[in-house]
Amino acid sequence: MHVYSDPASERHVNHMAGVESPERFPAALAGVEEAERAGAKVERRPCRPAPRSALEAVHAPAYLDHLEELAASGGGYVDFDTALNSDSWEVATLASGAAIGAVESALSGTAAFAIARPPGHHAGRAYGMGFCLLNNSAVAAEHARSLGIERVAILDWDVHHGNGTQDIFYANGEVLYLSVHQSPFYPGTGDAREVGEGRGQGFTVNVPLPGRSGEDLYAEAFAGFLGPILREYRPELILVSAGYDAHAADPLGGMRLESASFGRFASELAALAREIGAAPLALMLEGGYNLGAISESVAATIRGLEEEPPSWEYSGDVRPVEAARKALSPFWESLR
Ligand SMILES: [Zn+2]
Repeated sequence: MHVYSDPASERHVNHMAGVESPERFPAALAGVEEAERAGAKVERRPCRPAPRSALEAVHAPAYLDHLEELAASGGGYVDFDTALNSDSWEVATLASGAAIGAVESALSGTAAFAIARPPGHHAGRAYGMGFCLLNNSAVAAEHARSLGIERVAILDWDVHHGNGTQDIFYANGEVLYLSVHQSPFYPGTGDAREVGEGRGQGFTVNVPLPGRSGEDLYAEAFAGFLGPILREYRPELILVSAGYDAHAADPLGGMRLESASFGRFASELAALAREIGAAPLALMLEGGYNLGAISESVAATIRGLEEEPPSWEYSGDVRPVEAARKALSPFWESLR
């Protein structure tokens, strides 16, 4: 697999968010090394800053100007927990560039992981929040579309709902966005009844799970809901908003996943991509705030891409999954 990263990732310091620390970056890279020691074949790729045109495919020009000027003036705030320093603009464009690189690798047949900060899935067209400045996975999805890929799915397993990604594609149906997240929880969005609007109806897919959910419930969501929708949509490319804050050790999240759980998610999705003839996965680091858990979970994710998928089955009577099925079944035959 290809790993896209740039040492500049450590230069963005959001002093309003102690947990979204520069140390998360070497922790994630330590996970890559751990996977290599366990036999994974990894090629490191440099990243280039995302070009302005790729950013404007997602973000409002005035918002991009604002971020760039804020950083140039030494830094500032875009939200109560989201701050920039003088390096943040450059670092954020490198994070989006890493995501673009991951897409290009995936489309040429090699799975890829963009390991960069800051994360992206809370950033919308014209706003940053929740430690996020640029929406890296949305930029990646639009980049794939600019290369002629018609069906792109983003699967978001970060413990928080990716409200920014949802907002960006909510009314246009250009990208299938699927999120499994803790609810009720920050940022408060991601109800199962949020299914998209207009041409986007049915292309926003939310599975809100209660706090303290473990892998068993995630497995039900994959088997009973996310898998069937992905098989029916047949994306040519699956992007993963890979956050690790649903790990039991995470200081922000309230879920009970283990590091190995992320490996099983990765193997399940990689097998699904092969089954439907999609490109290999392109993953982007989102949240995750326990340094040891990040390392272990990144390693498990990379190893999972090469492993046999788990044999998950849907038991048919899981309330949160049933609520999501009910909300989306008008749009997806496989759920009826
Ligand atoms: Zn998160």
